[in-house]
Amino acid sequence: MTFADTTTSIRQLQEQVTGRVITPEDDGYDKTRRGFNLTIDHHPALILVAENAQDIAAGIRFAADNASAIAGIAIQSTGHGQHIAADGALLIVTSRMKDVHINADTRIARIEAGVIWEQVVNAAAPHGLAPLLGSSPHVGVVGYSLGGGIGWLARKYGLAADSIRSIDLVTLDGELRHTSATENSDLFWGLRGGKGNFGVVTDMEIELFPVAKLYGGDIAYPGEAAADALRFFRSWTSEAPDELTSSIAVMKLPNLPEVPEPMRGKNLVIVRAAYVGAAENGAALIQKWLDWRAPMSNSFHEMPFSEIATISNDPTEPVSTHYSNELLNELSDDAIDVIVRTMTNSASPLLITELRHAGGAIARVDKNASAIGNRDAQVYMQLAGFAPTPEAKDNVMAAIRHYKAELHPFLGGGVYLNFLLGEEAERRAKDAYSPESYARLLALKAKYDPENLLRYSYHLVTSVA
Ligand SMILES: Cc1cc2nc3c(=O)[nH]c(=O)nc-3n(C[C@H](O)[C@H](O)[C@H](O)COP(=O)(O)OP(=O)(O)OC[C@H]3O[C@@H](n4cnc5c(N)ncnc54)[C@H](O)[C@@H]3O)c2cc1C
Repeated sequence: MTFADTTTSIRQLQEQVTGRVITPEDDGYDKTRRGFNLTIDHHPALILVAENAQDIAAGIRFAADNASAIAGIAIQSTGHGQHIAADGALLIVTSRMKDVHINADTRIARIEAGVIWEQVVNAAAPHGLAPLLGSSPHVGVVGYSLGGGIGWLARKYGLAADSIRSIDLVTLDGELRHTSATENSDLFWGLRGGKGNFGVVTDMEIELFPVAKLYGGDIAYPGEAAADALRFFRSWTSEAPDELTSSIAVMKLPNLPEVPEPMRGKNLVIVRAAYVGAAENGAALIQKWLDWRAPMSNSFHEMPFSEIATISNDPTEPVSTHYSNELLNELSDDAIDVIVRTMTNSASPLLITELRHAGGAIARVDKNASAIGNRDAQVYMQLAGFAPTPEAKDNVMAAIRHYKAELHPFLGGGVYLNFLLGEEAERRAKDAYSPESYARLLALKAKYDPENLLRYSYHLVTSVA
């Protein structure tokens, strides 16, 4: 059966839902399908822009009824995390499901599937409360948290997934299910780490934390300091309290007219951090860097939590990048040599290697509490390059392969799901889990999605039909 044979069903679907059904011929198709990473240029067979859980259930039933005409079901909120093109799929878009409700007494936020972090930050701030967002406030709460979610409070309060108290979702039988530590606990366990593999989440309850202010910012050093700075970062973080979450990035500024001439194509080292606690204690920790070497710039100051996005200043407009990650148990001198050699090689298309200091509260959570693995990794390493054309993307991918081959002896073997892209995301998703958790996830997959309709939400296993 082709999709053209199902036009009656499409019309029926539009009659059943409050939201909008969009075909490739309709206005708005291109705008709605577009994600944040322009290297993923997907062409779904049909888009359902859901307004509520009933719309999502209708979409899922439609997909099941028309399974022979569609390639599966993909889920998109902000599009920041599309890792593979959902060509020929039904794309369920949740971006209009935007309700946020804060209960300041219980310190719980109830959010709908399309809510972005900025909304929660702004709604929680008047109560002196904060959620566990990451570097960008425009990322979606659900996609981020189901993949783990490492943010600026991670060492103090854990991953965003650890802050989830309940998840409501529509499973592939069209049923709306409530999951928590006590209800449908098998699904609750697997969703936290298994992302969109078991259904489409409609609502979540997440814990908030009493953080009204933080001491944060970044300092920059010239590229020549990279090796020494990485070694200093290693010793600085080895003594860091859990109140401090930090990262160090070795960057190459693009050779573009937008970059001031003296810095074009040059390397830069950026140390970013957030300290939760008395500002003078945070300042004392940053003073160690200032005493080590005078930076080129220093933006550290006490700020309201609502300004947390200024620490990373992530791009707000769609970008064309290809990226990857690895997890390290330690940052050895040999690994530092490879990082510096790669990032200062003017021929390399890689623009950034960022190392995030993990551990702390992330590592203290019981390994069996959710599907999330690799909790003892000390460093989350992200690598990325600019990929505006297929040739540039191939070039970046080849550079990443070479980089990883050189780093191989120093890697822990684990990956972090939220920072995986493309074919590597399919191939290496299992490295995000312990063998026991992976086996448990496969059993859940066989129970809740035996046909692997949700195959665009990180392929747990290629052997599922
Ligand atoms: C600029 C930028 C900054 C980032 N910073 C961080 C960071 O600091 N820390 C970190 O951990 N990650 C970070 N990420 C990665 C981010 O967490 C993932 O890309 C995440 O998947 C984005 O979720 P989304 O819902 O916004 O994206 P979308 O592309 O809309 O969704 C991505 C995936 O999430 C799942 N999903 C989304 N909604 C649902 C739902 N309702 N039900 C079931 N599954 C769903 C699906 O698998 C979907 O394919 C960043 C990404 C970008 C682009």
